[in-house]
Amino acid sequence: MAQSLKLQKHISFQANLVCKSGLRIGGQESEIGIGSAENPVIKDALGRPYLPGSSLKGKLRSMLEYKFKRVGFEGAPCGCGLEFNVCPVCTIFGPHKNNRHSLGPSRLILRDAFLTDKSMQDWEAARSEGKDFTEIKMETSIDRRTGMAANRSLRQQERVNPGTAFRLNMSLRIFEGDDEKKMVDTILDGLKLMGNDTLGGSGTRGYGWVEIKDIEVKDL
Ligand SMILES: [Zn+2]
Repeated sequence: MAQSLKLQKHISFQANLVCKSGLRIGGQESEIGIGSAENPVIKDALGRPYLPGSSLKGKLRSMLEYKFKRVGFEGAPCGCGLEFNVCPVCTIFGPHKNNRHSLGPSRLILRDAFLTDKSMQDWEAARSEGKDFTEIKMETSIDRRTGMAANRSLRQQERVNPGTAFRLNMSLRIFEGDDEKKMVDTILDGLKLMGNDTLGGSGTRGYGWVEIKDIEVKDL
């Protein structure tokens, strides 16, 4: 029974995620108050951008679903609940909306990714000089008939600047019977696909190109 699986250890994955283009993972306007930009990026209580673990996990999961052809009905996450050799995604991330499986707990824990020490210094420097750390872009959609900006389509978008780096931090649970090497390799493949794809909003318009580098994998 899955409920009695023995937890053997955790394996930690750490990496630097460097923005090669602007990146936006949206926050809530209400969080940062009146007078701030429309469509802000998500930030911590001190106003430092971060990447929520849930967003990173969703992206990694969807990359692996494409790789293993496990995308669910109408693009939903996979909920098949089948064993690792058939569906690595369900074991690693947990089957979507499916409580009737015997895979045990989902294996991968993705933590929020905060600025690296270097980017944190840049953020502090920008703040002390009264400069913006992020950039506000004006965006519009073009009306294809007239070639002009479509009516009321002008809006602000905040984005994290290229060069900004976040520290990626994940932990993989290894239970008795798990194929540790295959699980680790699957996650490394997912990270590679994520780096070749885009993260956050407006990816097909050039946002969210990230490089994932200095990956360290170690037993805890
Ligand atoms: Zn599945």
